[in-house]
Amino acid sequence: MESYNRIIDFIKEIYPGEGVIPLHAPHFFGKEKDYLNECIDSTFVSSVGPFVDRMERDLATYTGSRFCVAVVNGTSALHIALLLSGVKRGDGVITQAFSFIATSNAISYCGAQPFFVDIDEQTLGMSASALEHFFEGTEQREDGCYHVESGKKITACVPMHSFGMPVDILEIKRLCDHHRVVLIEDAAESIGSYHQGRHTGTLGKFGVFSFNGNKTITCGGGGAIITDDEELARSAKHITTQAKVPHPYEFYHDEIGFNYRCPNINAALLCAQLELIEQILMNKRETAGLYRSFFESEFPAIRFVSEGVDKKSNYWLNAILFQEEAQRENFIQLAIQQKVMVRPAWRPMHHLPMFQNAWRDGLVNTEKVYQTLVNLPSSVRV
Ligand SMILES: *Cc1c(COP(=O)(O)O)cnc(C)c1O
Repeated sequence: MESYNRIIDFIKEIYPGEGVIPLHAPHFFGKEKDYLNECIDSTFVSSVGPFVDRMERDLATYTGSRFCVAVVNGTSALHIALLLSGVKRGDGVITQAFSFIATSNAISYCGAQPFFVDIDEQTLGMSASALEHFFEGTEQREDGCYHVESGKKITACVPMHSFGMPVDILEIKRLCDHHRVVLIEDAAESIGSYHQGRHTGTLGKFGVFSFNGNKTITCGGGGAIITDDEELARSAKHITTQAKVPHPYEFYHDEIGFNYRCPNINAALLCAQLELIEQILMNKRETAGLYRSFFESEFPAIRFVSEGVDKKSNYWLNAILFQEEAQRENFIQLAIQQKVMVRPAWRPMHHLPMFQNAWRDGLVNTEKVYQTLVNLPSSVRV
């Protein structure tokens, strides 16, 4: 216990000041207020406006993707990406039990069921070898990939770049392509993260981002879908805007759509935040470096989670792994008492009542990482 106090003191050294040290607070130090005022002065605060167009252009440029559609949050972005990948009621979608609830919820919104494969111990995201093993239990039929044991059609695969650490996406993509399963990257946590120089989200048919208040850059609430497919980008825009056929005054809708548009006022905030991203990423990388050398020199038994070879993490949330669950529990309690906001990983999905009967492999790493991981304060240091 004595020794864990040393960790908390270190966190207080790198985040000096009074009061609570948050896990991840937003930081506005650019043109946010100017752009918000522009919105208000123009009266274009709602779902159309120049900042929505600019957000889509800027995000496409930043990620190196051909098209981008801004939406109201990351969960709706996942929902639309799954629908446009052809996920139908009764289908199966491969994903991680080790993720935020949004990934599995979006699969459920389509009437599909998540199939949970284990994560990799290094990346903390979907394990390519677990995925390969999963595919051994499938067969190809005329219309796609089927899971033999359950008889379910497997339509899509959604790996998630946990805390900004890129998964082995090239290998995952190779497997998905080979088995005719659509790859969607849940890059909600990984804006500014790269694998071999490619931005996360650009290898899948779709990549999905979230700009919720706790993410690396934020617009209050918002999200985006990126794709290189022009037709799919057009469909995404259409279906997220109530499937309204453009017309100067007629209201005509040609299918069931959704009100998932990103308001101009949120887009304004995002445009300002995106201008700051290089500074934010540099600051977060520095923080990760401070944590890494601290743990390496003073707590070699605790593993600080680092990006792998050929990968660049945005270090959205720094993470450490204890050896035992009891150590994690002791540390969390001690930190919270001292107003240092740390947290455990999400409860794995198959522990939750909605997903307890979902198909899964042994999930050995998922359980182990859940039991021993703690996220540390990771806001931009000012
Ligand atoms: C934040 C997040 C989302 C989307 O969240 P929203 O709050 O709907 O923007 C989706 N998946 C993961 C893994 C996330 O962390």
